[in-house]
Order: sequence, then structure tokens, then C-alpha cells
Amino acid sequence: MGKILLQSVFHNNAECDILISGTTFSSVGKHLSPQDREGAEIIDCKGMAIFPAFYNAHTHAAMTLMRGYADDKPLFEWLNNYVWPLEAKLNADDIEIGSRLAVLEMIRTGTVFFADMYWHRERTMKVVEEMGIRAAIGVTISDKLTSPEGLEENFKFLKQHTGESERIQLVVMPHSIYTVSENCFKRSVEIAQKENYLLHTHLSETQQEVADCEKDYGCSPVELMQRFETLNSHFIAAHCVHLNENEKKLFAKSGASIVVNPCSNLKLGSGLPDIAGFHTHGISVALGTDGASSNNNLDMHEEMKIAALIGQLQAHNNGNVFPKETVLSLATEAGAKAYGIHAGKIAEGYLADCILVNKNDVQFTPCHDIVSNWIYSANTNTIDSVICNGKFVMKNHHIDGEDDILKEAQQRVKQILTR
Ligand SMILES: [Zn+2]
Repeated sequence: MGKILLQSVFHNNAECDILISGTTFSSVGKHLSPQDREGAEIIDCKGMAIFPAFYNAHTHAAMTLMRGYADDKPLFEWLNNYVWPLEAKLNADDIEIGSRLAVLEMIRTGTVFFADMYWHRERTMKVVEEMGIRAAIGVTISDKLTSPEGLEENFKFLKQHTGESERIQLVVMPHSIYTVSENCFKRSVEIAQKENYLLHTHLSETQQEVADCEKDYGCSPVELMQRFETLNSHFIAAHCVHLNENEKKLFAKSGASIVVNPCSNLKLGSGLPDIAGFHTHGISVALGTDGASSNNNLDMHEEMKIAALIGQLQAHNNGNVFPKETVLSLATEAGAKAYGIHAGKIAEGYLADCILVNKNDVQFTPCHDIVSNWIYSANTNTIDSVICNGKFVMKNHHIDGEDDILKEAQQRVKQILTR
């Protein structure tokens, strides 16, 4: 079992030693015996602070290939006229290259987990295995965007649990209520229950989606999830921009999680999720970047700061505050928890996922409160190293193969556009 000793690292406003044994934190801030230290790789962390790594609870990794491709459009025009026609040209190799670019960006910005809803999932899984992070890989279900054969292949894949591993789980991901028919959605719910998968979908992202749902089903999107018998602790909904008070109560009662994606919602002009309100209702809320095509990056720190600012405004309007501990948890522990991963905290017994930041950076100076500096002052350039599952995936700013990944992505995008 490999051991890493993070010596003299700044944690909870004091210097301490942290021992990683295998894949978990085995000692945090305690005195270590010579036996504990035996065989450990010793990292001198003087001047470094440790934080939990980020968990990106909703994205579409390979859409990095479309970063900056079609800006300034509302959601449905953006999907119909730009994204879907370009996606139709993408093959499995493209998806692998786009996913690799995404994982590179995630590691560099301190993210060790992503929940991915996309196509050619085997290629994304391969990239995750190779690059050493974690993922919840979606088997994306849509009878309106997929051929009948493709759809059947997806359900078969789910029955076989293909490719699940220590760092990779599969999740049933019906794309949305506007791209999945009632029958197909119910079938997704059924297989998730039978095979014990989580179920993740886009929900209540735009006012149009809500209006169409009322017209087609005579109820709101959250009520529809209840009708489909999926509104429970195994359900994770992305966006939830347009929920009424009753829908928030239904969510709180059900134990289902919401993933907010404020950058994407702002950029596509969809509206803003009630981040502070969800919290007051006791709903479990995680954070995601959505795809790089509508964000336009996968930087969870930036997403965290924007979510924090929105949360502050909403909380202040109701005479409350949006505390920094809640903000940090939104971007870390809450995402891990939503996907059933015992991580997101620097504590004994938790999976050893963390980042080391340069505490001597100008953005951490002075240091009245390190969590405040991390959320509101610093950016991800202050990240020195990233550890996932007890192993370095970035060490002293170095990530294996970075130059090749960038070059390959640049060349591939040129080629796709000529098809
Ligand atoms: Zn999305």
C-alpha cells in the first residue's frame, strides 16, 4: 500500500501532518509514530494549504471541442442550429480527444470527479482510467436524439454494467423531458431501479421547457418526475432554474439532489436557480459547470465563486447570509455525496482527494481566513498539486502529456470543421 506524508501542510488555520495510506486519509493532524511514517513518500508542504478537490456534478466533457463555437444564443436556438448539427459530425476518436482535453482542464483547475452526459461513453471512460480521476459516466438515453438500435444498445450496456471500476460508475441519464418520450423515460427509471443506478437528467432549465411540460403533461417538470416515480434519493437533477415553492418542497421531502450550473444559465440567458432558497429548504445542492460550450470552461473554482455571489444576493434579500462553509461544500462534499462517493473532506477515512495551493501567493496575503481567501480571492493558478484516490495527478504544476493533449485537440477541431 502506497503512503504519502504531507508534512507541515496548512489545514484548519494551523500547520499539521497528513498521512495518506492507499486511497484514503489515514491520519489528519495527529502525532505520527516512526512506524506510521515508514515507507511514505514525504512531501514538504511548508507554504502550502490543503483543500478538498472539486466534484463537478454536471458536465458534458467532450464539448470542450465546441468551446467558443456559438456564443450569444438562447438555449433552444443554440441546440437546434449549432450544437446538434456539429455533434452529428463527431466520431468516437473526436470524443476521446475532447474528453482528454476536458480532463486536463479539470485536473489543472483542481477537479477530480465529473458527472458526464455524452456519447461514445467508452472513450471517455478510457480517458478517465488513464488520467487517474473519477467519473460518473452517463449512459445517455434519448429516443429523439438516438436511433432505435442505439437506444437498445444503451439499455443492454446498462444491464451488463460494462466498464464499472473503482473510480468509474455508470449512471442512467435520460437527457431531458423534451428529448425523451414518456415511455422511454419510464423505461430509464425502471432499469435504474432494477440495476441500482442513480438517475440524472436536465430539469426545468428554461421557461419554455416548463410551459411545454404543462402543455404536454398538464403538470410541472418536478411533478412529472414524481409521476414517473423517480423523485427520490437516487435522483439528481441538473439546472432547476424555474422551480415554484411547491416543487422546492417536493424536492426537499424526496432526498433528491439538485445540481446548479449558474454560469451556463447566465450565458444562455435561461435565468438563475434559487441557490440560497434551495439551501434554506434543506435540499441537497451540488455544483456543476455544464459543458464548456455554454460556460465556456470547466473551472469549478470560478463556478463556486459565481454561485457564492448569487447565493449571497439571494440570501441578503431574505435577511440571511450564505456562509462560506456552505459554498465550499457545494463545490466539494455535496457533489461527491450526490454520487455516493465518500469524499470531499480532508478527514480520516475519507477518500484521499485533495489539492495543495500556494499559500504565499499574493491572493492569499494577508490571511485572515484561508477559506474566505480560497473562495473569494484566489484563482486556480494558485493550485500547485492535485491528488486523486491517493495518487498525484498533478505535481508541482506538471501533468503528464499536457502539450500533446493541447496540440491534438487544436488539430482535431480544424479537421472536424472541414467535414
Ligand atoms: Zn447540461
